[in-house]
Amino acid sequence: MLKVLFVIAEAYPFAKTGGLGDVGGSLPVALNNSRTKVRVMMPKYGCIPGEYLEQMRVVTSFKVELAWRRIECSIEELEYLGTHFYFLNNEHYFRQEKLYGYDNDGERFALFCKAVLESLTYLNFQPDIIHCNDWHTALIPLMLQEDYGHNPYYYNMKTVLSIHNLKYQGAFPTSVFDDVLGYGGHKTAWEKLEFYGEVNYLKAGLLAADLLTTVSPTYAQEIQNSYFGENLDGVLRQRKSRLSGILNGIDTNKYDPLIDPHLAVNYRSSLCKKGENKKALQEILNLSVRVDLPLIALVSRLVDQKGLDLMAHVLEEMLSMELQMVILGTGDQKYEEMFSHFAHKYPSKIAVRIMFNEALAHQIYAGADILLMPSQYEPCGLSQMIAMRYGTIPLVRETGGLKDSVLPYNEFTGEGNGFSFANYNAHELLFTVQRAVKLFFEDKIAWKGLAENARKSDFNWEGSAKQYLELYRSLS
Ligand code: ADP
Repeated sequence: MLKVLFVIAEAYPFAKTGGLGDVGGSLPVALNNSRTKVRVMMPKYGCIPGEYLEQMRVVTSFKVELAWRRIECSIEELEYLGTHFYFLNNEHYFRQEKLYGYDNDGERFALFCKAVLESLTYLNFQPDIIHCNDWHTALIPLMLQEDYGHNPYYYNMKTVLSIHNLKYQGAFPTSVFDDVLGYGGHKTAWEKLEFYGEVNYLKAGLLAADLLTTVSPTYAQEIQNSYFGENLDGVLRQRKSRLSGILNGIDTNKYDPLIDPHLAVNYRSSLCKKGENKKALQEILNLSVRVDLPLIALVSRLVDQKGLDLMAHVLEEMLSMELQMVILGTGDQKYEEMFSHFAHKYPSKIAVRIMFNEALAHQIYAGADILLMPSQYEPCGLSQMIAMRYGTIPLVRETGGLKDSVLPYNEFTGEGNGFSFANYNAHELLFTVQRAVKLFFEDKIAWKGLAENARKSDFNWEGSAKQYLELYRSLS
């Protein structure tokens, strides 16, 4: 039996800020089978809903050394969908409501990584593989070598590091090297961590892990060149023989229009019932109830990555067309203000909700006709997959996982499950929206076929889980 510890900073339904949380809550569940035992470990944040806190029970407690500190930690656990979830508890570091964004994030996640490794001798679980995700957990492969390399209990453990978004690297002042990590004088650790005058947790992980993955085949290629490489492309090229791309899946139970509790009307393929959800959504959003108008949605973190500067250029022109729009998201102030400005100017055309709201997100996936993702880069992207499951047509830029999951509509053959454009250019976005809207108005049969193709696109975890399991086996 292969044993895997899956370490991640977010897992839905316990804590989620974006796609990483979706993956944390669904991939480990899909990986568990009769030959592979997967357990998950994440921090116990203050924001975890009470119903789950009540189910947790303390398994063990121990002290963790972090440079000159000795920090009391405990591990709590619960079972979710047949999978063991461990929660690292330390009130001082993780009791806060937000997951990240604190001055001591470098120290918080260094503690998390060290505590994960330290806890293994206290838990009755000695993994063959530790699967780390993003910068929050990227110190684990390095610490395994530097701090636990002499301990036979850890000799055979292998590490996998998955990159969900290369932009976020965990870069901190060099003082962290000695004061937090306690590595003063460790030359090999310095070489792995130092990056442009800072310590960089992700770089260390990229160099120390046995295998690297990222969340789509296209992104795995893209990040090896300087446009997408976020300065780490050289490091990735150096390790390219250990790097592969595996497309994420989605939790097809959570995102299932047939049983989704948030919807006005449940449906599978009926466009008529989908239309009922559209009407309900228009009512919630104070837009006129018009099934005949195309409703275009954006459900996203409002950050540069998502191509919102392209939207800024052509939003006025888009809103001059016969359509309605809904924006749901939070993020950079400039984008929150931009969308709020348009909502104020064109209240009958665009509804903007600056918030994180899971229920409304589901209602939008069900009620909208088109979901926009004009991303500058997109490691995988889940929103387009979720939209398709609800028969909503994605309109995306051809990058990363968007390129790997959206096949552009071919008006001659009827093939395809969405619309896409190649260049990061505002007018390409606008023309593609115009094309989509034209098809919506002028060819109902083609539109129905497209929605059906989207709905039938299969993004369950099964295929991806198989590829991860093959990778694990190649290491053991
Ligand atoms: P990223 O991980 O870059 O944020 P993804 O497309 O991979 O982008 O995943 C986004 C996830 O977060 C989806 O599940 C999407 O529905 C959800 N999401 C994004 N913004 C919001 C919001 N404001 N309210 C509710 N859910 C949101």
